[in-house]
Amino acid sequence: MKLVQHQPLRIAAARLLEATGASPEDARIVADHLVDSNLSGHDSHGVGMLPHYVRAIAAGLLDPKAQAAVEDAGGAILSVDGQNGFGQVVARRGTAAGMARAKATGIALVALRGAFHIGRIGTYAEQAAAEGIASIHFVNVVGHAPMVAPFRGSDARFATNPFCVAVPAAADHPAVVLDFATSLVALGKVRVALNKGEALPEGTLIDSTGQGTTDPAVMYTEPRGAILPFGLHKGYGMAFLCELLAGAFTGGGTVSTVPFEKDRITNNMLSIFIDPAQLPGAGGLEAQVAAAIEHVKASPPADPDLPVLVAGEPELAHRTQRRAVGIPIDATTWDQLVESGHAVGVVFAP
Ligand code: NAD
Repeated sequence: MKLVQHQPLRIAAARLLEATGASPEDARIVADHLVDSNLSGHDSHGVGMLPHYVRAIAAGLLDPKAQAAVEDAGGAILSVDGQNGFGQVVARRGTAAGMARAKATGIALVALRGAFHIGRIGTYAEQAAAEGIASIHFVNVVGHAPMVAPFRGSDARFATNPFCVAVPAAADHPAVVLDFATSLVALGKVRVALNKGEALPEGTLIDSTGQGTTDPAVMYTEPRGAILPFGLHKGYGMAFLCELLAGAFTGGGTVSTVPFEKDRITNNMLSIFIDPAQLPGAGGLEAQVAAAIEHVKASPPADPDLPVLVAGEPELAHRTQRRAVGIPIDATTWDQLVESGHAVGVVFAP
């Protein structure tokens, strides 16, 4: 493990992205997103994705110069054609447009299709929450081989389809940000376990014959295994609704209609933005949320070392800790980064 400070990592990541053809502004947005994911404790969506992005650009699957336009007919519904551009740039732009419309009308829906990997979804929920806007995001993944088996199935039929909801911060509480893959783990976490040489918990994966396994390699060898959805039939149902809402409703397509290509990761996202200040009950809203948080956190912890948290708190704690001591990066991921940088004259140094 290397401990890497976040500032030099941001600079090296942005330089690498600029060397691939991204504008300085877009390179900075993507680099900051990746490093902030590492800082938040989600290494699966951090700088370890850069070698993949570089390969996808070289293969013509990711267009570093794409300029996604927001399609706006003036109502509550907006859409964005990602044009295979950096997902972090496309989704940030779509989120800004949704927030602005929600501030004007109380609510907005943004249907985003065809962006390359948009990364950690909580980033967009936090972008909205920082300006007092609550948001709900349904995401699917296409163009990539499926990774997740349906409940009762024995092979992969869809992806790790993340779901995210955020309630903005108030005087008495930080933003509540629930953001997770509907699979038991995100695929990036399987990659991180493989790079670290670690097994995954039992009940997370099945191999290509449908049998349970703890070996992350089953997701990276042919014929591939699958990750199981979280929460049995309930998580499966949610994953499938992400497939429908993000895939079918945006026009971006589902795993059943979009062909796979090596190194492609296309995301579609259906987002709802709400301005809580315009809700009829808004007067009491902040106090209600604060009271609910206080109430659940007052539950005596079953293990005294593990207090009750609300969603979003683990990421805040990681940020404080990793800003102070650095971001741990495993040797395989680090070597891949150094190699990607070397190819274009960018130095990654701890
Ligand atoms: P995870 O299992 O670590 O769950 C994270 C969520 O659970 C966060 O909201 C966190 O605040 C909350 N949480 C964690 N511990 C908690 C506790 N003790 N009490 C209360 N809340 C707690 O996340 P994951 O499923 O591994 O997903 C990781 C990231 O991967 C997410 O940011 C997701 O958006 C991203 N992702 C992206 C894609 C994509 O296609 N772009 C696909 C899958 C996942």
